[in-house]
Amino acid sequence: MAKKVVKRSWAEPFKIKVVEPIKMTTREYREKAAKEAGYNTFLMKSEDVYIDLLTDSGTNAMSDYQWAGMMLGDEAYAGSRNFYYLWDNVKKYYGMPYFVPTHQGRAAEHMISKILIKPGDYVPGNMYFTTTRLHQELAGATFVDVIIDEAHESSNEHPFKGNIDLKKLEKLVKEVGAKNIPYISMAGPVNMAGGQPFSMKNLIDVYEFAKKHKIKLWFDATRATENAFFIKEREKGYADKTIAQILKEMCSYFDGLWVSAKKDLMVNIGGFLATKNKKVYEEARNMVVIYEGLHTYGGLAGRDMEAMARGIEEMVEYENIRMRVKQVEYAGIQLAKYKIPFVQPIGGHAIFLDAKKILSHIPQEQFPAQTLATEIFIDSGVRGMERGIVSSGRDPKTGENRKPKLELVRLTFPRRVYTQSHIDVMVESVAEVYENRKKVKGLKFIYEPKYLRFFQAKFDRV
Ligand SMILES: *Cc1c(COP(=O)(O)O)cnc(C)c1O
Repeated sequence: MAKKVVKRSWAEPFKIKVVEPIKMTTREYREKAAKEAGYNTFLMKSEDVYIDLLTDSGTNAMSDYQWAGMMLGDEAYAGSRNFYYLWDNVKKYYGMPYFVPTHQGRAAEHMISKILIKPGDYVPGNMYFTTTRLHQELAGATFVDVIIDEAHESSNEHPFKGNIDLKKLEKLVKEVGAKNIPYISMAGPVNMAGGQPFSMKNLIDVYEFAKKHKIKLWFDATRATENAFFIKEREKGYADKTIAQILKEMCSYFDGLWVSAKKDLMVNIGGFLATKNKKVYEEARNMVVIYEGLHTYGGLAGRDMEAMARGIEEMVEYENIRMRVKQVEYAGIQLAKYKIPFVQPIGGHAIFLDAKKILSHIPQEQFPAQTLATEIFIDSGVRGMERGIVSSGRDPKTGENRKPKLELVRLTFPRRVYTQSHIDVMVESVAEVYENRKKVKGLKFIYEPKYLRFFQAKFDRV
């Protein structure tokens, strides 16, 4: 092949068939909208948002293949063909023989926490995810963060900041005893650390540790294909493996997994629990009837399960996952040109702006990340979310605010929804806010809900 002399760009691996118009608003309009929403981006109206980077959860654009499948929904109460097709794909791609559908990820987290945890237990995990930890705590466990220290440093360039620190695991087992640790909870890429993956080597080490101590190993596989992509790009020995092969190998080390299908699977609703353990499966299959619906639909319509089954086939396509991760990388490269601090390396699903550095004059008690998210929305209508002291919540025992080291604004990319031009507009807005950062004032609570407060809290300017 001739030597390449020109820099060659990539483009989105799809063309657009249906469009959804978005509203452009004025700064005055957004200032008022932000105030009415209590300066909480979760309480803003979607209609008032220009580019919505609040979350990639359920905000995906489905393909024509998935939409065509929606018409094939078998809406029987029991045993629909879409359920069996989905189950087949769970076996084929995740390698788990048993499967229970749920309406979304947290329903699966609720069930698995109830099934495996007894009050007084400890559950170690590679940093926490909001709903995951809450369900573990509600089931009576104490969550223990065993992620490597590098994950808490926003500018540390470790390629696998989602790794578990085996020494921390060892210490926990010594302190509380393996019999009080029902399972290790492993997620990848780790959302709260900035979308950072774990390596296959680390997973194998954790697997061997768990086996030795007879502790189960469970996987939050919500973003597993992103993790597989990073393994392919960064870990020795995986460059020539397919995403599907890497995913299957990852899953092979776990006793079971749960998934929010609203992420990797590129649908708008759905989730599931899958396992190799027949006993756990039987309990989950029974429990799902109480909370979600019969075990062959778990709170979903037949058409939703069809879209999920087809989403699994698309999520492991190289072009698809590459575009996803590279779009985030593109945004990071552009932001870096303005010297804007954000979490390094660039994560798999989002850019995490370092609000502690950007708004260094605002103390953590005045919510620098919440403030930064508000300012960006007011500047351009770009919506992100807080991942800092508000999201961390209060310690259930002491009632004190948990003070995370990281104070971040997450700008998350819905899959297949926005183009590079949207990213450019976002970058310019963040740069504008960054230039004017010294004038920004912090926020205070005017309403604080008891659970997952970041969703519904209201603030005012100090
Ligand atoms: C979204 C998410 C969940 C929760 O899933 P829902 O579908 O929102 O209930 C759990 N874990 C991770 C890693 C997630 O990203």
